[in-house]
Amino acid sequence: IFINNEWHNSVSGKTFPTYNPATGKKIADVQEGDKADVDKAVAAAKEAFKLGSPWRRMDAKDRGRLLLKLADLVERDQVYLASLESYDNGKPYTAALYGDIAGSAAVLRYYAGWTDKLQGKTIPVSGDYFCYTRHEPVGVCGQIIPWNFPVMMLSWKWGPALACGNTIVIKLAEQTPLTGLYMASLAKEAGFPPGVINVIPGYGHTAGAAISNHPDVNKVAFTGSTEIGKLILKASAESNLKRVTLELGGKSPLIVFNDADLDVAIETANLGVYANMGQCCTAASRTFVSADIYDEFIKRAKARAEKQVVGNPFDLKTDLGSQIDEEQYKKILQYIEIGQKEGARLVTGGKPIGGEGYFIQPTIFADVKDNMKIAQEEIFGPVMSVIKFDSMQDLVEKANNTIYGLAAAVVTKDLDKALYVSNHIRAGTVWVNAYHVVDPAAPFGGFKQSGLGRELGEYGLQAYTEVKTVYIRVSEKNS
Ligand code: ADP
Repeated sequence: IFINNEWHNSVSGKTFPTYNPATGKKIADVQEGDKADVDKAVAAAKEAFKLGSPWRRMDAKDRGRLLLKLADLVERDQVYLASLESYDNGKPYTAALYGDIAGSAAVLRYYAGWTDKLQGKTIPVSGDYFCYTRHEPVGVCGQIIPWNFPVMMLSWKWGPALACGNTIVIKLAEQTPLTGLYMASLAKEAGFPPGVINVIPGYGHTAGAAISNHPDVNKVAFTGSTEIGKLILKASAESNLKRVTLELGGKSPLIVFNDADLDVAIETANLGVYANMGQCCTAASRTFVSADIYDEFIKRAKARAEKQVVGNPFDLKTDLGSQIDEEQYKKILQYIEIGQKEGARLVTGGKPIGGEGYFIQPTIFADVKDNMKIAQEEIFGPVMSVIKFDSMQDLVEKANNTIYGLAAAVVTKDLDKALYVSNHIRAGTVWVNAYHVVDPAAPFGGFKQSGLGRELGEYGLQAYTEVKTVYIRVSEKNS
């Protein structure tokens, strides 16, 4: 447990194991933080945020230098970090290296550039007053992250929080605590003052709940399930109205029109649902395909899915590694069973891959109906559900028929169709002839029950500042 730039054992003396999902074997025991440890970490973060502290007195540009240094250290140790991520999470090493770790350095670097550009305004108010605004840090930021992109989710939370001058208490996902702990050591090496960044491995209902209920936490940023997101918001209301941003679940539609380049459509659908073994909140888990190309699409999607290499995450040829743990693995297999019972046609996959670890074959269901469970609930696994559509009107209604609104994609060569769909879909991100494009400079977040607020880009800064309005009486105002 990393508090005040030092390593602590848990107050309770408890530890918990973390596993390599590709083998099911234990990697290590980790200190188990809970409420008492959160209290210690929040006290440290509060102290580091005190007026006159080194962090509060630091020039904005120097916060930027620390973030740049951290990004450099992430790149220096990218092989180690990517290996650790793959080991603890089960994702392919190549994806960890080129996706998670490279993406994390990019986000930290992007936000480093914002530190000295957070400007207020001078405002022409009536009367003899000089009026201006200041964008001040919110204070102690609680951060609760999931296991699907451990370092990347940490970087999305650290970057804007630190750029704006806040202090941090982050709880790592219990399934994947290792890379976050390594990031803590890099933060210390980069030179962040003690107490600015505090890192707690632990469980959600204990350490996570302690953060979301804490009276001295001023803001909480959460990425995870919609179910827990609602608890976080409730905890805020019942404690101190801490600011809340939420990045939650999704059931994102991918729409393939009959004029689409089928090669592009197949690659997009394949990437959309199988990336990270389907464990993406933006996964393309409902694929709508125009009736006149439906059979051809299914045939080619099947061939493409069967070409995927599933197995050892450290083999450079591997496309899909292991699911995160036994619980998720069982849940996915259960959804595959439900899909078959509900009358969807299993085209390929659907089975676990024998032996050790939690590997599942890339799976495709055809003849999926909009109201089936597999078309409504988040599966978080490598399962493509293909739904046939006839008319545009019907399509948009169906695509929007979900409690979620995180992302959507269209594959077409027709600009009118692309614009029609992107205007009518209720989702925070729309991709046209692309999928899973995320950039530090562009906002990310959900409509409806997919979340509250936006992360990344300039929009992502809003959640990490309070705007203060200052009026100063002046003796004689002139225009
Ligand atoms: P998943 O089902 O993908 O694991 P969760 O929403 O359960 O998603 O978990 C995301 C993060 O939220 C994890 O760090 C987890 O420990 C944490 N968490 C789970 N339950 C709670 C809770 N009651 N309060 C706060 N955090 C929680």
